[in-house]
This record gives sequence, structure tokens and C-alpha cells, in this order.
Amino acid sequence: IKIMVYELRDDERNVFENLAQELHVEYTFSHKMLNMETIPLAQGCQGICILGISKISADILRQMKEMKISYLSTRSVGFNNIDMEAARKLNIRVSNADYGPDGVADYTLMLILMSLRKYKQAMFRGNVNDYSLKGLQGKEMKDMTVGIIGTGRIGARVIDFLSGFGCRVLAYDPYPQEKVKGKATYTDLETLYEESDIISLHVPLMEQTFRMINRTSLSKMKNGVIVVNCSRGELMNIPDVIEGIETEKIGALALDVFENEDGIYHFDRRTDIIINRDMAYIRQFPNVIMTQHMAFYTENAVKSMVSCGVKNLVSFIKE
Ligand code: NAD
Repeated sequence: IKIMVYELRDDERNVFENLAQELHVEYTFSHKMLNMETIPLAQGCQGICILGISKISADILRQMKEMKISYLSTRSVGFNNIDMEAARKLNIRVSNADYGPDGVADYTLMLILMSLRKYKQAMFRGNVNDYSLKGLQGKEMKDMTVGIIGTGRIGARVIDFLSGFGCRVLAYDPYPQEKVKGKATYTDLETLYEESDIISLHVPLMEQTFRMINRTSLSKMKNGVIVVNCSRGELMNIPDVIEGIETEKIGALALDVFENEDGIYHFDRRTDIIINRDMAYIRQFPNVIMTQHMAFYTENAVKSMVSCGVKNLVSFIKE
């Protein structure tokens, strides 16, 4: 079995190496995206594995078919970058990857605590040898009402973790889960907005959730609310969120995701890339934490992603 790996990151190399030996797979790799320019690299391979940033158009899929490659696996969970309709028509089988929710849930808790205890401000002061406490008073979790929007795999895990803090937890999800009910109180979205001191988003990006954090929803929230988004950038209307920070409606904001993330992947996820004017502006606030879509990024997750990417291709090819 011979496969072509695109978008290889250095941290994946060892995992690929070990798996290839174990499964007797030969692989060629490129750090580049899969596109019309790079597709010839896959000549002679039976399957292609991408990380999930490359935009896979019908043209690329047709070219794959012409090269007699009928299998495509992504090492990411989402596959909205692939023209699935075209893949179906061309009879190209596509698979995605899976990893546990714990990494993202851990990270969410970290962002909540960092926001509540003004960690960014404290760290900046430490960097200039200023160890004063002025303005750094925090609050305790046990006194907080935390609102979790979306109680799927990640949201439910965040709620598990929160149950140790003794805070009140509200949840909203059109499909409430039994196992969450003992640890959180399901409410409607309005009540969650009105009563939460901290709001964390764990919903997929869909028509109903697109820019759900906007001037209208913010106006319903408490003054000084902490908002955390480890889900998708498009869930927030950033100009409205900026207004929320400037008017102090938002007390602290922590973002692991933002719109138009594609740009940063070309630069190997360096933080100092200015993504767009709004994001460059927003990250300067002392009460705003912004990271580079890394909540998922743990040793375990990378192993699972690579393993799914390779094993799915192998089982397709062997069928
Ligand atoms: P999931 O599908 O298990 O859960 C999503 C939940 O949202 C479901 O329970 C669903 O019923 C609920 N939901 C759907 N529409 C809703 C709405 N309008 N309002 C409230 N809830 C709604 O997904 P998951 O694995 O928990 O992941 C959640 C999101 O986290 C993903 O969609 C993805 O965007 C994001 N994510 C981010 C990272 C990262 O590194 N930052 C990593 C993985 C996933």
C-alpha cells in the first residue's frame, strides 16, 4: 500500500513513521497543501491523506480519479473543506478523524480560569518586573454561574470538569443529554445569557449558530460577562464583540478560534501573524486572550488524528 500525505506537520512525522512500519504502508509526504499544483506528487499512490486545511474542489477530485486514486482521508474532525457532493459523484471515498474531547475541555477550563484571575495582565506585569496587585483582584469559581452553550462531546466534558468547582452551571442545547442533567441545569438561551457570569461556546458552526454572539445577544448578558470561544470563529460577530469590550459589557474574552484562520496555516501557526485588522486590534486588549486554534493540540490528539488518517485509508484500500 502506498499513500501520499499532504500538510505534514513536523510533530506528526514520528507517528507516521511508526504506523507505516506497523501497517506495512509506504508513504510519501509534503508539507504543502493538496492543490492542482501539488497533486502530481501523489502519482502512483492509492490513497491521499490531508490534514484538513486544503480546499478540495471538484477539479482536484476529478484529477485524483484520473490518477486512479479513489480514497481520501483527512486527519481532522471536520470535512467542510471537501466538496463531498463531487466526491460522491466521482465515487471517491472520504473519511475523517476522531479524537477525544478532553484536550479541548481542559483548554476551555484553562481559559475560563485565566480570564477570571486576570492572568494575562499579571503575566505582562511580571514580564516588566512589576509585581503589584493593583487591579488584579479576581473572583472565585464557586461564586460563578457558568453557561455552557452546546452540550455535545466537548460541552459535556467541560460540565464534568466544572462540577468539581462548586459553581452553578446552566446549559443550553436543543438536544439535552441525560448524563448532563445531574451536573447542569438546562435552560433556554435567554435565561443562560441573562444569568451567566461566564459563557462558553461548544456548538458547531451552522446557519442557526453563525454570529450568535452579536450586539443583540450581548445586550442580554450581564455587564462584565466573560466569554470563551474554543469552537468556531464564525460564531461571533467581531465588530460587535469589540464594541462589547470597549463598553466593558464584556469583562474578559478568550478566543482559541477566529474567522479566516486559513491564512495562518501557511505560516506554520505562528502567533505573530496579523490575520486581519479586527483580530490584530482585539488581541491588544489586556482582558483578551487569543490563541491559535490549539485547544485540540495534545500528544494524544495528534496520535489519534494520524492513526485515523492512515488506518482509514488502509481499510478502504484493503476492502
Ligand atoms: P458535538 O457535535 O459533539 O456537540 C455539539 C452540540 O451542539 C450537540 O449536542 C448539538 O445538539 C449542539 N447544538 C447544535 N445546535 C445548537 C444550537 N443552536 N445551540 C446550542 N447547541 C446546539 O461537537 P463537539 O465535539 O462537542 O465539538 C463542538 C465544537 O467544538 C465543534 O463544532 C468544533 O467547532 C469545536 N472544536 C474546536 C476545537 C479546537 O481546537 N478549538 C477542537 C475540536 C472541536
